[in-house]
Amino acid sequence: MSAAGLGPLTIRAVRAIPLRCPLPKDRCHTSDFGRQDRFDLVLVVVETDQGIIGHGEAKAAVGSAGETAALAAAVERDLGPALVGRDARDVLALWEAMYSGPRAGHALRAGWPMPVVDRRGARVAALGGIDIALWDACGQYLGLAVHRLLGGRCRAHIPVYASGGWAGPESIGEELARYVDSGGFTAFKMRVGVMDGDLDRALGRVAAARRALGDDADLFADAHGTMTVPQAKAFCARAAEWHLGWLEEPTAVDDLRAMAEVRQACAIPIAAGESEATRFAFRDLILIGGADVLQPDPAICGGLTEAARIAVLGGAHLRTLAPHLWGSPVLFAAGLQLAAACPNVTILEYSMGGNPALHALVEEPAVPRGGLVAIPELPGLGVRIQSDFVEHHRIDGRSGRA
Ligand SMILES: [Mg+2]
Repeated sequence: MSAAGLGPLTIRAVRAIPLRCPLPKDRCHTSDFGRQDRFDLVLVVVETDQGIIGHGEAKAAVGSAGETAALAAAVERDLGPALVGRDARDVLALWEAMYSGPRAGHALRAGWPMPVVDRRGARVAALGGIDIALWDACGQYLGLAVHRLLGGRCRAHIPVYASGGWAGPESIGEELARYVDSGGFTAFKMRVGVMDGDLDRALGRVAAARRALGDDADLFADAHGTMTVPQAKAFCARAAEWHLGWLEEPTAVDDLRAMAEVRQACAIPIAAGESEATRFAFRDLILIGGADVLQPDPAICGGLTEAARIAVLGGAHLRTLAPHLWGSPVLFAAGLQLAAACPNVTILEYSMGGNPALHALVEEPAVPRGGLVAIPELPGLGVRIQSDFVEHHRIDGRSGRA
């Protein structure tokens, strides 16, 4: 049948598979989140009447470990049932239906959302996981990569940065330099902030990292929102000689004015947004002057649909995007599709954590080469789920096709 003759792609079921992936003992890391010995996610599965299965990912935490029960329930019991019988090709209408709930009809007629009370957090992360799976299913059905449905590709490859950097001052240089061997990275991110105990130690670690990497590498620092405004200003002033590419979440994300104050006072670009959800939150982050670089996470912010809207919004304010992709290869694949279609996505996060799902949840996961990752042209997200891995790591006590 020609593409023009393709009929509806009817949703049969929306399922959530919570996965818990223990990290090998020698790959655990410690940060302000404590010792990270596992990685949790919800794999979202959208089944259709054509036999096509779309996959998405929803996250319960910006870091590695997070309780997924509420997220899985939001996918399967709250949002999913209302989608059964609907046409998966109507991705944007389904997004509105999930966001506005019982008032979705009024909202669509009015032209603006009328959201339910849980309009951020787990419910929007669940919505995002379903949204990613819908894009995957549609792409497979039409035989096109998701970025073709988003307007085609701006690029064939995207730079990635090696995201890690937890070691102390004596070995942080060695840790980051080791990353070069595993993907030819030229950009690196390290963690700083409350985990350092004091500013001198944080700056000592940054200095050691810069000395080990040399002047040509891009080096970013992520404070996980743990500094006070005076600490962040002092950090930026004293870190100037180590020319950081950005300081991420210097201060608490609950006070965007503080973030803006740091940004105003400092020459180092500020990156933020990994825990924000929806374009409305990013609008506020931009308007308050809180960030130079926006970091939406499709598995938290509301899916590929919302991440693409945030990219457009950012573009109108000359902001670039470095999407937060601390997740599985499903999330990373979504990030690749976003990067293909959105000109102002300039770099992606590539996790150097020990999460085994990164290398085993899908067949042929994306591999960085020379600090770049090729954007696949395969239908949908271009991922094939390894069902053995899913069966081994699911924590819902069920079994069946993923
Ligand atoms: Mg971060």
